[in-house]
Amino acid sequence: MKNDLTLVLKALNFSAGKHRHQRRKNTAASPYINHPIEVACILWTIGGIADETAIIAALLHDTIEDTDATPEEIGAAFGAEVLGLVLEMSDNKRLPKQERKREQIVHSPHLSPRAKLIKLADKICNVRDIAFDPPDRWSRERRIEYLAWAEAVIAGLRGVNAGLEKHFDDTLALARKKLAEEENEAALQPEEKS
Ligand code: NDP
Ligand code: ZN
Repeated sequence: MKNDLTLVLKALNFSAGKHRHQRRKNTAASPYINHPIEVACILWTIGGIADETAIIAALLHDTIEDTDATPEEIGAAFGAEVLGLVLEMSDNKRLPKQERKREQIVHSPHLSPRAKLIKLADKICNVRDIAFDPPDRWSRERRIEYLAWAEAVIAGLRGVNAGLEKHFDDTLALARKKLAEEENEAALQPEEKS
């Protein structure tokens, strides 16, 4: 990456502003901006992605889907390449939820190489959170379903970055182990009480 952080910091500032009223779905309701920061961080540290365009798009990846940010704004501030990546990361919100989930599986093989990297980092974060910092009130069954869906999305885009793919596999295995442990604990609880 060029030794110039101007656009990266501008993207961080833009994303923080757009997500300022949003929280993650975990119990602590963490500030939303921690998630795109973490996605960018995983790309840089685990994926070794020293590519300014990918890092900027990672910071912005949920702005069109989840905030009032417009494609015009992002294109004007960060250029067409970044805009294209953010659009690739955005679900079509006009579709029902189930359809959107299916579309991610169908589309993942056709994402551009950089969008595949961002998708991997995004799913690494979300799979880890589903297991260790989950949305409030999600049943274990729903969390297990999420893991299976994320695995199917990632299955369609393999072959882009061995480090990120291994990290996804390791994170998924840890997540499943955690959920299995929770199930065992839940099964033991009635006996402990009696
Ligand atoms: P989502 O799949 O949209 O919620 C998960 C998403 O929320 C993640 O992909 C992530 O997206 C974001 N997120 C925010 N905080 C967290 C966190 N702490 N951990 C993980 N992810 C987080 O769930 P929906 O509520 O939209 O439901 C989706 C599907 O689930 C629907 O198809 C619905 O039919 C089904 N469903 C299943 C139920 C069940 O019990 N089995 C019950 C209800 C619904 P990002 O990175 O983009 O922010
Ligand atoms: Zn995300």
